[in-house]
Amino acid sequence: MTVRCERCKTEVYKTEFCNYCGRTICNNCMKSSSRGSPKPNRLVICKDCWGKMVKRRAFKHKRALVTALGASVVPSSKHGG
Ligand SMILES: [Zn+2]
Ligand SMILES: [Zn+2]
Repeated sequence: MTVRCERCKTEVYKTEFCNYCGRTICNNCMKSSSRGSPKPNRLVICKDCWGKMVKRRAFKHKRALVTALGASVVPSSKHGG
């Protein structure tokens, strides 16, 4: 049984969840993954989100914008951060 990647529409056996757009993506569309601590345990960013500076910065700070539960996390925009 395969799952369709929401980004490139390829059917794959194993998918990843992008923590920045909330789509189910295949390994080929995954740009990078990282371990967060303490949670989420794992961060995945797709190639589309990698091209967006805000999302890429959030990834580098190990901050997820979308969780697997579907709840969007609004990035805090504090000054002087
Ligand atoms: Zn894909
Ligand atoms: Zn994404």
